Amino acid sequence: MSTTTLSPHERATVDAAPHQLLIGGRWVDGGGGTLAVEDPSTGETIAEVADASPDDARAALDAAVAAGADWARTPPRERGEILRASFESVVARADELALLMTLEMGKPVSESKSEILYAAEFLRWFSEEAVRIDGRYAVNPSGGSRLLTMRQPVGPCLLITPWNFPLAMGTRKIGPAIAAGATMVVKPAKQTPLSMLALGKILQENGLPDGVLNIITAESAADVSGPLIADPRLRKLSFTGSTEVGRALMRQASDGLLRLSMELGGNAPFLVFEDADLDAAVEGAIVAKMRNGGEACTAANRFHVAAPVADAFAEKLAARLGAMKLGRGTEGGVELGPLIDATQRNKVAELVDDAVDRGARTLTGGHAPDGPGYFYEATVLAGVPSDSRLLSEEIFGPVAPVSSFETEEEAIQAANATEFGLVAYVYTRDITRALRVSEALETGMIGLNQGLVSNPAAPFGGVKQSGFGREGGPEGIDEYLETKYVAIKLD
Ligand code: NAP
Repeated sequence: MSTTTLSPHERATVDAAPHQLLIGGRWVDGGGGTLAVEDPSTGETIAEVADASPDDARAALDAAVAAGADWARTPPRERGEILRASFESVVARADELALLMTLEMGKPVSESKSEILYAAEFLRWFSEEAVRIDGRYAVNPSGGSRLLTMRQPVGPCLLITPWNFPLAMGTRKIGPAIAAGATMVVKPAKQTPLSMLALGKILQENGLPDGVLNIITAESAADVSGPLIADPRLRKLSFTGSTEVGRALMRQASDGLLRLSMELGGNAPFLVFEDADLDAAVEGAIVAKMRNGGEACTAANRFHVAAPVADAFAEKLAARLGAMKLGRGTEGGVELGPLIDATQRNKVAELVDDAVDRGARTLTGGHAPDGPGYFYEATVLAGVPSDSRLLSEEIFGPVAPVSSFETEEEAIQAANATEFGLVAYVYTRDITRALRVSEALETGMIGLNQGLVSNPAAPFGGVKQSGFGREGGPEGIDEYLETKYVAIKLD
């Protein structure tokens, strides 16, 4: 491993996390050797974790299959208690887990801590849902026979998660799978494996039986996911990541007719109407845009503002974003960390340059600072022409393009003019307009006068090219249950 600038405390935190694969309750080395984990604020390697081979992936599925029947029979209360105890552990260790997350992912420690607590809430929510799995008993409408329905775990699952929310995207799947009585193989993103490995250890320490949760980290995601998706014992694939990879996985999963949940990319519009509380809209915009440094599927990607207030909104937003402190996520007072890697930083720079070349005005930011790490300044662009690439592509960075609209119809049309349909934000004080616009928007979620929709008690998910399936809420556990119907002859 190369030398790093980690402090002794940071080094101890990284070293305390598991670095191996979790297969059948044992921590084991990977057949592929190791893969490097970088600190995106310095570009330095901070850890080497196991690189799983396709054989390791098969062994993980073997373990999930072997544990399946016993786990499905385990009393729901027991499954719930393991989740509840794990929730308590994650909360108790939130500071240490937040530092670990910041070191591998880059965002400020305060934001990592918010994610840890949000991630923990999925464990608590689904600990409560585990005991609410029910069925029904009905009289056949024509009399005589009876109709019994029961809900059973879907079977072994493959759960693939992205790097932007290294823990929460995992607990949103692992929580309901455990609650439902399903077993699983989890494959976190190679850039942020440490948070997931640390979670695996916590679940293990809280009594999760061997084989229920298996974790494989790998240099090549396709090499380990391919054999599992092709294996007839796998019953479900839940994926969070880009639309492009989601499509490819759907094609692979079609042979085995796998149950699928697809949480894919976004291109969220943020609409501000003339009657909105402008200061509240700016506060909401900061959350919707800057949470996770803009590296969120829910990030506001485009700001459509009513023409009479567009300049005022853009200027207020620029004043706030321009004052944000950029730096290493472990430093005090830092509000914006680095992007995940050079590719992402360069893509953000390219999208900004494209908009500026087409005539957009830079109100603040617009540069990648010199020095190590993958930083990009918080940026506000005004008067963004409609053919700018960043209005149709997911920016995944701290850039807010503002354009104006004249009418409500024009705003709705602009908002829906995308292949994506994850979330939209609407600011207005007119209740009839709020409902009319909410009904007209083609998205799975809407933030009405608020810039944050993520909530473990709510069904998170998209429509159109943002995917299908819902995570969280009472709906979240349905993704891991099959419905069986028994026709009963009585006479
Ligand atoms: P990504 O490149 O699609 O990767 C996501 C996961 O898929 C990672 O674990 C990755 O592994 C794996 N993967 C990549 N190529 C694969 C392949 N050919 N076969 C199997 N697995 C493969 O996405 P990302 O860049 O990490 O994440 C950003 C995207 O996720 C954005 O589009 C964002 O909108 C979306 N996202 C959506 C939601 C939602 O709930 N809708 C939430 C968060 C993020 P490696 O990293 O190891 O290559």
